[in-house]
Amino acid sequence: MKKTGGTLGLLQFENLGRIPNLVHFITTRSGGVSLPPYDSLNLGLHTADNFDKVLANRALLAKETGIGKEKFLYASQVHSGDVKIIDSTAIGNGVLSQNPRTDATITALPGICLMVMVADCVPILLFDPVKKVSAVIHAGWRGTVYKITSNTIQAMVGHFGCDPADILAGIGPSIGPCCYEVGEDVTEFVTQSFGTTDGYLIRKNDTSKPHFDLWYANQKQLTDNDVLPENIETSALCTMCHSETFFSSRASGGVTGRFAAGVCIL
Ligand SMILES: [Zn+2]
Repeated sequence: MKKTGGTLGLLQFENLGRIPNLVHFITTRSGGVSLPPYDSLNLGLHTADNFDKVLANRALLAKETGIGKEKFLYASQVHSGDVKIIDSTAIGNGVLSQNPRTDATITALPGICLMVMVADCVPILLFDPVKKVSAVIHAGWRGTVYKITSNTIQAMVGHFGCDPADILAGIGPSIGPCCYEVGEDVTEFVTQSFGTTDGYLIRKNDTSKPHFDLWYANQKQLTDNDVLPENIETSALCTMCHSETFFSSRASGGVTGRFAAGVCIL
């Protein structure tokens, strides 16, 4: 990932950054107006932060990216495997203000900024430069075992005729395999969903609790659906190890803000 030059300390993927007429970014905690524990660029209206401060932060992001405030699509994320297509009908039905309940959105509409908000869950951006289709994914452990990344690629293929070999993917900062200790509730789902724990769960020794590698699990869903490994960029930045830069739910004991990844076709 690389830093952009603005005042919000936004980050970009190298692969998506090379595409003309595509705006994308990962936000950090920097440059906003929210007070601790939401300091400072908290974009989550569903947190207990001051409403006006979150709106001010969203306005700062709109200004820095040059995208109109009313063009951002923030979903109401529910840890599902569900994918929603954003077309002109959805826009006409007010999808931009209604926060649809979904964990992935896909669009071919220019000017719409698809957003995913996280604090330890994995934000994933996709773009097909041939069909000009963009997508964002919210993949926490539940979304990951529900195979939301597979579902999104399959929807891009089925609805828009995308060739997976054309799709570029960026896997953003999230809690990493270094820190993501999980209990039996999660490990059972992992075994059921993937049929194996090899690569998914890592144990330092026989007595330690397993760590779930969300980066591997989502990379695997991409390559299993024929996205090329060389088209996948993983930031490999752990939010818990870098909680001064990114909001981390675990590092903060659950009360914190949300950072975001967004993508907009110009
Ligand atoms: Zn870590």
